Formats: sequence, structure tokens, C-alpha cells
Amino acid sequence: ITEYAGRDVAVFGLGRTGLSAAKALKAGGARVHAWDDNEDTRNKAEAAGVPLSDINKRDWQTFAALVLSPGIPYKFPQPHRIVRMAEMTGVPVVGDMELFARAVQSLPERGRPKIIGITGTNGKSTTTALIGHILKQAGRDARIGGNIGTGVLDLAALHANAVYVLELSSYQLDLVKSLHCDIAVLLNMSPDHLDRHGGMEGYQAAKMRIFQNQQKGDIAIVGFDDVITQSIAIGLAGHGPGRVIHASSTYTLGRGISAIDGKLYDNQSGKAELIGNLAECPSLPGKHNHQNAAAAYAACRALGVDPDVIFAGIRSFPGLPHRLETVGEIDGVRFINDSKATNAQAAEQALKAFKNVYWIAGGVPKAEGIAPLAPLFPNVAKAYLIGEAEEAFAATLKGKVAAQQCGTLENAVAAALHDARGAGEEGAIVLLSPACASFDQFRDFEERGDVFRSIVQSMMPAVLRVM
Ligand code: ADP
Repeated sequence: ITEYAGRDVAVFGLGRTGLSAAKALKAGGARVHAWDDNEDTRNKAEAAGVPLSDINKRDWQTFAALVLSPGIPYKFPQPHRIVRMAEMTGVPVVGDMELFARAVQSLPERGRPKIIGITGTNGKSTTTALIGHILKQAGRDARIGGNIGTGVLDLAALHANAVYVLELSSYQLDLVKSLHCDIAVLLNMSPDHLDRHGGMEGYQAAKMRIFQNQQKGDIAIVGFDDVITQSIAIGLAGHGPGRVIHASSTYTLGRGISAIDGKLYDNQSGKAELIGNLAECPSLPGKHNHQNAAAAYAACRALGVDPDVIFAGIRSFPGLPHRLETVGEIDGVRFINDSKATNAQAAEQALKAFKNVYWIAGGVPKAEGIAPLAPLFPNVAKAYLIGEAEEAFAATLKGKVAAQQCGTLENAVAAALHDARGAGEEGAIVLLSPACASFDQFRDFEERGDVFRSIVQSMMPAVLRVM
């Protein structure tokens, strides 16, 4: 990033994204002034070679830009102090994705890599990883990053033949003006993060920015499984510059991709062509994942990858950790780690995907609790509750599902295995899908999932563990 060579740039928020932005700016010759309110974070940044300077005390007139980490409140619930400082002094606020987008735009048109952007309320990471996997299997130079894994400025140098597969959160989209996605994917929309976007309208506006610089010849892949994306898809088809492809796990739509009852169809030629059976894809269980597969197919097909090669890639996708990840099997009981399910909507997908579930739930509950999951309670054989949510969840389940308050994850796994094995039924599943945040007992959802995996593996016979 040479845009700010020789100039002063403030970088605020030194998590993964801020660090990669600070390093890229410094490498490009900018004078970087990096800061974070948290001392630990600052120390880590300094150890990583990032130049610290307390921007609260600097003369802001010298800053050419403020590079803001997507985690810092930009407009809602209220702008962070630093954002207000930038506004008052007229310093432009940008994010790492905007820096990346401008670097791409500065290349001659024929030397620009292709960009696939993926957003949506749920399924972003899975779809991003899946598209990246398929493209790599197809021999393409795919680089996966953004909100998943590697920060976009840490991805290797821009190369004309590369395809950037970028997960875009609504926070990142809020800070981006120049990004041009050759292929833009919007999977689904339901209320989430509304406090950060000033309501549903602001959230939707942020998500729509993924299409903002699309031109004729570009592709907009839009889900069709919820009312909001339905209306967006219809609106874009009428007025958007790019070609709209629907990706649905509910409807067979002309000129779209559908995954109905697990069968993946390409309808783009005007007739439904069967591409493959998603039941053969163990890492993508559940209807929600079939939507992700339909969208990934659409994106890869738009890049000219052969349908058979795409389906082979879908089949060999190893899946992402903590999202319906099978972590072991003991005496016919399968253990599934869905620690990423931090709210009821995400846990709903898991409870829809399986029957005969021994369900481990709890942690720090969200406002809606688990009451919205009541229609799926028949899939639950018994619930094992942990963390702060124990009492509240027990009250919701009372009279509907047998439930046991277990306190810790260790107790819950042991009790669930005991019951599932005792029932002796085929296909029992012990599922960690907490519908809660993790921070009462764990650092984050990853740690919670890792602990679950190691508890399960420690209970498995050694010979199985080696496999
Ligand atoms: P994100 O990156 O958008 O948070 P992930 O791919 O990490 O999404 O999936 C997180 C959780 O969201 C999964 O565990 C699953 O429960 C749910 N999910 C995944 N894909 C979808 C989808 N297409 N529609 C609804 N829910 C989904």
C-alpha cells in the first residue's frame, strides 16, 4: 500500500486487521501512528514491529487518514471517541478493505485480480472457505481472507491471475467505498448487530454496499430463502448493473442455482440440470449448508469452472472447525462441535440438521434465549445445560424437553455420552450448539469448541484417536 508513502497515518484498533494494516502501510512508506486503548494489545503490536504513538495526543492536522479497525463502533450505537476526533479535524476514515480496494483500482485494468466478495448474516465463512477450496482444487490461484483467517492486507501481493475470495462483514462494508466485486455474494439477511448499524435499515444498507461498484458483466449472487434477500434479488434484477443469479435451498428458480432436498441443480440454461447429491458431502450437513453450496457453485461456475470439478470440490471440502464439525464417534454416538452457534438462529440450523440430538447448550444467553427453537424441540432427546444460561434455559425447556443442569462442559459431555449410549439407538448425536456467547467460561467460541473436541478425544479409545 504505497498510497500514503511519506505521510502520517493513524491506525486505531490493533487486533488482527489493524496489525496487518499498520504493517502494510509501514512497508509502503507511510509514517504509521498505531494505537489501541488496551495496553496488552498495544504491547503485542509493538512486539510485532508496529510503531506505537498515542494518537489522542497528536496533532490530527498532520494525519492523511485514520485507518479504523472494523471492531470499533463507527456510527452506532455512537461513534467511538477516535472517530469523532477524525470527523472534527476532517481526517478521512478508512478500513483495511478500502485500502486493499484502492490498491486494486490503481492497477491497470488488465492487471487486476478478480474479486469475489461474500457477505450475509450467516454462512459467510463457510461459503468463503468453500469457494476458495473449490477454486484451488480447480487449479486456480485463490487467496482467501478478509473477515476470515488472513487480513486482506496480509494476502500475497496482487497478481492479475489471482482470485481474491473475501469474506466481508457488515462492519467492513461500512468502511468501504471503492471495492469492486466482480462477483458479489449476499447469502441471507436476518436481524443481527442492529445496535452497530442503527437498526435494520442501516444493516441492510451496509450489506448492499457489496454491490456498490458493480458494472455490466459483473455477477450478483443473491440468496432467495428469506424475505429480505428476496426483495433485494428482485430489485437488483430490475435495476442493478450486474447479472443476478439466485442461490436457493428452498425454491427452484429459473436462471439460478437451487439445492432442493439435498440435490444441487443448475437452472441457468433454462432447464434444471442435476449437478450432484449433497448428501454425499459430509462436511456440509443441513439445508443452510446447501444454500452455501448453491452460492459457491454459482460463484465458481461464473468463473468458468466445470460443473463436475465444482461438485468434486464441494464433496472434498473438509469443512470449518466449530461449525457442525464432527469431532469423534464413540460406540456409534457422533459428537458434533457447533461452538460457532452463538445465537438461536445459528443453533436452529444445527437442530434442523439432525434428529435424536443430545444437546449441549448454554453460556451467556442472548436476549431471545432458546424460546424461538421450540418447534425443533422434538429433535432433542435431552438437553445438557451449562454456564450462566442454565436456569433460564431449564425454565424454557420445562415440560417440553428433559434437561439436566451440568455446570461445566466436561460434565455435560460425560452425561450426554452416558445417556446417548444407554439409549442404544442408531444415529445418536451429541451436539454442542450453545445458542450463547462463551465468555462466562471460555475466551471465545474457538476455545469452547477446542475444549469440547479435546474432552471427546480424551474419551475415545486410543486407537481411534490416532486415526
Ligand atoms: P458467518 O461467517 O456468517 O458467521 P459461518 O459460516 O461461520 O457464518 O457459520 C456460522 C453458523 O451459522 C453455522 O454454525 C450455522 O449454524 C449457521 N449458518 C451457516 N450457514 C448458514 C446459512 N446459509 N443460513 C443460515 N445459517 C447458516
